[in-house]
Amino acid sequence: MEMAQLGPGQRSAALEAMAATEHQVVVVGGGVVGAGIALDAATRGLTVGLVEARDFAAGTSSRSSKLIHGGLRYLEQLNFGLVREALTERSLLLRGIAPHLVRPVSFIFPLTHRVWERAYVGAGVGLYDTLALSLGQPRGLPAHRHLTRRGALRLAPALRRTAFTGAVQYWDAQVDDARFVLTLVRTAATYGAQVASRAQVVGFLREGARVTGVRVRDLETGAELAIRAQQVVNATGVWTDDIQALVGRIHSSAGIITRTPVSVLFVIPWGRHWIIGTTDTDWSLDKADPAASRADIDYLLGRVNAVLAVPLTHDDVEGVYAGLRPLLSGESDVTSRLSREHMVAQPVPGLVMIAGGKYTTYRVMARDAVDAVAHSLDGKVPPSCTDAVPLAGADGYPALWNSRARLAAASRLHVARIEHLLRRFGSLAEEVLALIGSRADLGRPISGADDYLRAEVVYGCTHEGARHLDDVLARRTHVSIETADRGVSAAPEAAELMAGALGWDADQTGREIEYYRKHIDAERASQAMDSDRAADAIRLGAPEIVPAADSVR
Ligand SMILES: Cc1cc2nc3c(=O)[nH]c(=O)nc-3n(C[C@H](O)[C@H](O)[C@H](O)COP(=O)(O)OP(=O)(O)OC[C@H]3O[C@@H](n4cnc5c(N)ncnc54)[C@H](O)[C@@H]3O)c2cc1C
Repeated sequence: MEMAQLGPGQRSAALEAMAATEHQVVVVGGGVVGAGIALDAATRGLTVGLVEARDFAAGTSSRSSKLIHGGLRYLEQLNFGLVREALTERSLLLRGIAPHLVRPVSFIFPLTHRVWERAYVGAGVGLYDTLALSLGQPRGLPAHRHLTRRGALRLAPALRRTAFTGAVQYWDAQVDDARFVLTLVRTAATYGAQVASRAQVVGFLREGARVTGVRVRDLETGAELAIRAQQVVNATGVWTDDIQALVGRIHSSAGIITRTPVSVLFVIPWGRHWIIGTTDTDWSLDKADPAASRADIDYLLGRVNAVLAVPLTHDDVEGVYAGLRPLLSGESDVTSRLSREHMVAQPVPGLVMIAGGKYTTYRVMARDAVDAVAHSLDGKVPPSCTDAVPLAGADGYPALWNSRARLAAASRLHVARIEHLLRRFGSLAEEVLALIGSRADLGRPISGADDYLRAEVVYGCTHEGARHLDDVLARRTHVSIETADRGVSAAPEAAELMAGALGWDADQTGREIEYYRKHIDAERASQAMDSDRAADAIRLGAPEIVPAADSVR
């Protein structure tokens, strides 16, 4: 097999190739880990790209102690698993993978205490050697041996004679760390990986919530290119967090729940965003649009930062919303301690009242309320059957989910878009896709809110009862809390689409955008206020857009 040459033309050819076709894997970071990943993937037959911001191995991988070792230290900590794993690798590298780059090296351990230290160190390195042998592979290194002071001085005349009484000699391996990485990269390229140094990842490509590639700056030319990938691997060592910060600040594959003095704090995954809450504070002001104050935000940031490795700041807050729990209250209770159970009552004949409960138990609440109604009705009412009634979009959903690749091909949308639609509309996603089929422009993302497709705005109006811009940006979609500008830049395009669907004239369209903008301005201003009252006052300064203009009735 002829080895790949990383010559003058190779780098730009690799970048061009990466930009031209979607690769199965793109690895970010050309240290030993990234280069190793590129080789591993390429030798499994995957199409691979590797981009390194500086030179290959310019990071930690050229600044190590250059040892390939089992780690005597871990042995002392009785971490046998780690030592065994490393010794296996040492043996593989020494004997087959890179005997030219990984070489035996011996160490002398000078002893100052004649008896116990020789026994302790001797037992340690003895175990080290035995472990290596027990792996079933030839060790590739001589065994340790005990030395007298004179013997040690023969090997290391540089040692001060009076500084030790004897020594133990053992063997490990060493590597030219930078060359090793370069060799890994070259070998990966030989197996087909496209590799480029001085190519810095400056952002991610996305289709909805999914990462679909990286934006790379060619540091030689200053050009920026989009490199598409089915999977991106972040192997940037000490820069890992910086790269992750380009995707989002909280790195967790699960939500987080912690205790607070009054309740619990949830950190809940929401697509590529996170919802952090709740404050569980009292609110006695406007019920329609409760406002979050700066104090509320500070409280939540304080609470969540107590458990996060990299603290969040106000700049990380993309959106904020506030809601009131319908709790069964006693006069002086703290809200989080109030009952979240529900209660059905008939205070006067003809009236059923239901209170308390929570989202999760809505169906039980509904059943109990209707039971109460049924009780008062003449004639027999059958029992609730909502436990067996799938909601709109539920029927056929699993089968459609399994067909998402076919739907993607048929609609010419990325499969991530299909997943997004299926997760939002269930099997009714087919109706949204039909809209796109009849009007190709609706298949484009909304500029300023590109997690969502234009069709979703129209569908919101034609099928989901949206009447105003806020309906679409805050509830049919969640653009208002998922974009850094809270949907302000997406508002004009969304309003245009709504105008077409709802028959708005230019006046109404302008009014909708204006109201939305004011609403967001007020929301932002209220969140700078320290008290609920001040926040509420500002929030109320931006009324909702009702009544609508005649054209939309
Ligand atoms: C002092 C020291 C001694 C050590 N000694 C040993 C030892 O003897 N034996 C041992 O086994 N281990 C040793 N280690 C550990 C070992 O060196 C590291 O674990 C290993 O090198 C890490 O490799 P890496 O590929 O993860 O990171 P790195 O080598 O740092 O590679 C990450 C790469 O990502 C690149 N990058 C960053 N941002 C971007 C971006 N935006 N776009 C593209 N690329 C980017 C960087 O330029 C860098 O080249 C030592 C570590 C240190 C610090």
